[in-house]
Amino acid sequence: MTLLVQKFGGTSVGDAQRIRAVADHIARTIKAGNQVVAVVSAMGRSTDDLLRLASEVSSVRPAREEDMLLTTGERISMALVCMALAELGVKAASFTGSQAGIITDSDHTRAKILEIRPDRLQEALDEGLVPVVAGFQGVSRERNITTLGRGGSDVTAVALAAALHADACEIYTDVTGVFSADPRVVPQAHKISKVGFEEMLEMAATGGRVLMLRSVEYARNHHVPLHVRSSFTWEPGTWVVEEDEDMEHAVVTAVTHDTSEAKVTVGAVPDRPGVAAQLFRALADVGLNLDMIVQNTAENGTTDISFTVPKVNLAEAVATCEGLQAEIGAGSVSFDDTMARLSLIGAGMKSHPGVTAKMFEVLAALGVNIEMISTSSIRISCVVREDVVEEAMRALHHAFELDV
Ligand code: ADP
Ligand code: ASP
Ligand code: MG
Repeated sequence: MTLLVQKFGGTSVGDAQRIRAVADHIARTIKAGNQVVAVVSAMGRSTDDLLRLASEVSSVRPAREEDMLLTTGERISMALVCMALAELGVKAASFTGSQAGIITDSDHTRAKILEIRPDRLQEALDEGLVPVVAGFQGVSRERNITTLGRGGSDVTAVALAAALHADACEIYTDVTGVFSADPRVVPQAHKISKVGFEEMLEMAATGGRVLMLRSVEYARNHHVPLHVRSSFTWEPGTWVVEEDEDMEHAVVTAVTHDTSEAKVTVGAVPDRPGVAAQLFRALADVGLNLDMIVQNTAENGTTDISFTVPKVNLAEAVATCEGLQAEIGAGSVSFDDTMARLSLIGAGMKSHPGVTAKMFEVLAALGVNIEMISTSSIRISCVVREDVVEEAMRALHHAFELDV
């Protein structure tokens, strides 16, 4: 029998009617002879609402309590989906992340999965029940409730699919699949029917938020085929699969954008060995995930070092740099939180020169200034001003012949 893990995102369980539609879809999948494990997100924007409520209550937010609060969103959804299934005569049982055996480290608000013990889910399946699991959460070895980071229900779904050896993991969302650009920004974007993990990882890492980055990493490492599709139309969506030799690669597959990062610049740093190591060790020790790093050529024995960091970690990054400023003899620490990153992704880039030149020409024609550049073998990213990024995306999407 085919076992499917079906994950339903926030909009897909956004109100009573949507929850009934989800239950109906699960019931049909069962009737067609499959087994289903469902994973649900919190309804609509309720995670954001809970965070807002927390900040109204207090300026201090202990991470353990934030996790305890946020996991309630997914619990509401799981119980309601089970009730809607009961009305359809489908036997189901809800499980929190902890009950589902998702064991994580203790890094509250961004915990990593250490181990899955799916015995209770397996027992439920063996009894003919549909397990409905609250996404985005687990329990630490110290028995505290943890969350997996924003968008983390995707990781729950993929991890359960791997642990239960499911045939596929279906990610139901509010778009019909993975597109050549965010369809909210580029109306001309087209749905990609099949994409390799390599390209999907680059997309997820550079702002294509339709799949959380860690879920794509997990799926690749554990060979879980992913199917991203719409819970509104139920039409076939995008398969994210392992690359095979026959896959013909487009030069550019997608354009992504990310406005969640800020740039920090440490100015007039002495140009001698060990300074960058000292700076980045200090940033790593406070657990910061840095991205693009640029160092200018030295003038008069000093240089500038810039890097990007998620906006949510900006204050911490600036404070860490300021704390080291005197010790490393840097001239200044400044930041910019009005930037955006624009990226082109395409596995065919490896064998096609000229993509970078064309990207820069398109941006130049729009009068867009490029502030930072970074590349991988299948990606080019530029940092530009936030207010021009959407126009630049549409121009690049058109220039690289991705428009429908
Ligand atoms: P869910 O709540 O179902 O997890 P998300 O909001 O996390 O949904 O992800 C779906 C959203 O991702 C879409 O509404 C779309 O605006 C956005 N998105 C960004 N880039 C892409 C892309 N390349 N293809 C499809 N959707 C994208
Ligand atoms: N509800 C959580 C969030 O909004 C997790 C998720 O939806 O995947 O980030
Ligand atoms: Mg999501």
